[in-house]
Amino acid sequence: MLISRPGNDFNEIGINDIPVIPTSFYMSTLGGYAATGAYGFGALKNGALWDNLIEVEIYTPKGFYTVTGKNILSTTLAAGTTGIITKIKMRLVNRKYKKINIVKKTFNSLSKALDDAFNILNSTEFLSIRNYGMAKEIDPEYSWDKWNIIYGVYDENGQSYATKDIITSFAGSSQ
Ligand SMILES: Cc1cc2nc3c(=O)[nH]c(=O)nc-3n(C[C@H](O)[C@H](O)[C@H](O)COP(=O)(O)OP(=O)(O)OC[C@H]3O[C@@H](n4cnc5c(N)ncnc54)[C@H](O)[C@@H]3O)c2cc1C
Repeated sequence: MLISRPGNDFNEIGINDIPVIPTSFYMSTLGGYAATGAYGFGALKNGALWDNLIEVEIYTPKGFYTVTGKNILSTTLAAGTTGIITKIKMRLVNRKYKKINIVKKTFNSLSKALDDAFNILNSTEFLSIRNYGMAKEIDPEYSWDKWNIIYGVYDENGQSYATKDIITSFAGSSQ
């Protein structure tokens, strides 16, 4: 479990054990993410950010409140309109020392790509569906088709990638 103050940023505490990591991790705070964000790397397995929050402390004109359970939803995505998030408790996952295999698949239609994506959804850590141009940005040398799926599965024989590198390349956007 992580107990964080709002000004803590992802770079300061490290992202490996955070269940849902936004592609903005390199420039955002945990308080700001809780106030505006929801999904990111890890969401396929771990759900939205609010599914992983155990407790949120907010400061309002009437004082400090600590919310749990469904009441947490009144603090997330509210962008500070219901109070300033001053502390979060979040469950953590353990990604350390795990290797990830990056798999690339190509399709000549979006419907075929989507069918395949739905079949593998439950066994992947991340999944990215990209058209030709977007896929080319990831790997200019690869023989991409009109539609492409890039996904990652944990595997003993996989390649070692830092989580941050996967997020800023295969799974999300570049910095
Ligand atoms: C390039 C980029 C990629 C992104 N990727 C993702 C993604 O993958 N997934 C996702 O869910 N979101 C994503 N986002 C949106 C994401 O929620 C925010 O970028 C980021 O997490 C907000 O953190 P911040 O510290 O930068 O907040 P800021 O931008 O500083 O603030 C955002 C809002 O939240 C309020 N706020 C800030 N801190 C607090 C606090 N402690 N309590 C209450 N309100 C507060 C601010 O007043 C403001 O209204 C992305 C944004 C960008 C620009």
